[in-house]
Amino acid sequence: MKRLSLLVPLFMIMSACTGQTDDPNRVIECLPDAIGTSRQITLDGSVATMDLLRDHEVVLTYDDGPHVHETQRVLDELSRQCVKATFFLRGDNASRNRSLVRLIRQRGHALGGHSWSHPDLIRLSPSEARDQILRGNQAIENAVHTIPGDEDFTIRLFRFPFLHINDDLDQQMSQLGLIPVWVQADGADWSGIPAEEIVERIFINLERAGGKGVILLHPPTGTAEDSTRMLIRQLKSEGYSIVAINPPEPPAYTH
Ligand SMILES: [Zn+2]
Repeated sequence: MKRLSLLVPLFMIMSACTGQTDDPNRVIECLPDAIGTSRQITLDGSVATMDLLRDHEVVLTYDDGPHVHETQRVLDELSRQCVKATFFLRGDNASRNRSLVRLIRQRGHALGGHSWSHPDLIRLSPSEARDQILRGNQAIENAVHTIPGDEDFTIRLFRFPFLHINDDLDQQMSQLGLIPVWVQADGADWSGIPAEEIVERIFINLERAGGKGVILLHPPTGTAEDSTRMLIRQLKSEGYSIVAINPPEPPAYTH
């Protein structure tokens, strides 16, 4: 009997760890005061994202994931706020966390490439850089293609590692049908600073950019969930709107 009574709490603990509350696909209701996504803009590469934004409009972007724990938490926070963001994923991380890639897509966020393993592409030969770009994109596409009905998904948005670009890479973007998305408000979360300081830096950068812009956070830092929550709270209080960006359809290239 003693042995049985020990088994019950163990079973309950195991259920709690694997049960509904931890189901990544569970439906998350928007909070009553959710900021929401105010509008969507479709990028075609002819105009920079920044120039498509109106006063006090921002785009949320997350680089370097998907991270096994943190990306899920960021996704849940975005769902609670009814916000759509863009995730620029590393191919190596995408290939290790395919279910998270699918979840990002299924929750309606945009996906973009960020190279396979995040080298500084301007230090590579043109062919090595091209391999990094295509291999990274392919890893994301492979994960999305396992979603029924999404077999034709193609990456069209790209974020350069370290935001470094040269003329050759600029040309490659056009040749590959990819649209680079730049950043106005980097939170410098990669430097290990606390969430409060990250949000402060984002707002300083937004002001410098004229009161609008593309915001950058990094889920693998451990601060992205807190930063997202604090950021959205402050965006609301300062009268900002969040805009979703979409890639153009249909795909312009195949490989
Ligand atoms: Zn990066």
